[in-house]
Amino acid sequence: MIIDLRKMARSGKESEDFFFLYEPENDLSSIPDVKVVMPVKIEGTVTLTGEHSCLAEGEILFTLKGECTRCLTDSERSYVAEFSEEFSDSDGAYPVVNDKIDLRKIADDAIVTNFPINFLCKEDCKGLCFKCGKNLNEGDCEHVTK
Ligand SMILES: [Zn+2]
Ligand SMILES: [Zn+2]
Repeated sequence: MIIDLRKMARSGKESEDFFFLYEPENDLSSIPDVKVVMPVKIEGTVTLTGEHSCLAEGEILFTLKGECTRCLTDSERSYVAEFSEEFSDSDGAYPVVNDKIDLRKIADDAIVTNFPINFLCKEDCKGLCFKCGKNLNEGDCEHVTK
């Protein structure tokens, strides 16, 4: 996921679109038993902002797989994380090294920042009845009071 800024500048391009599929090296999940499905998609645009700096904007599309926190059903859900970060010469969070940038850290950071606090099969998951354990997404049980 390397973009060569010198090559861009040489070919007279001010911006360039990118699309990568990548596999995070680290476990980015903050919920036990919830995993990031490989590969993760990253797409966007790099725009030169100076001789050795650029702006990278776009979105990360990632899918999580695991047990719903509420109803314990195996589920998969997709998420979109937007990013807009400046790469610069200095040793900031996203440095330009030898006129190249690596989008890997942006992608990792965007997933971590946008990771859900609870992994739910759907936003309005009704969970399990605490008395009989019935999955209330499949219908009410006798313990549900209207
Ligand atoms: Zn659920
Ligand atoms: Zn019940």
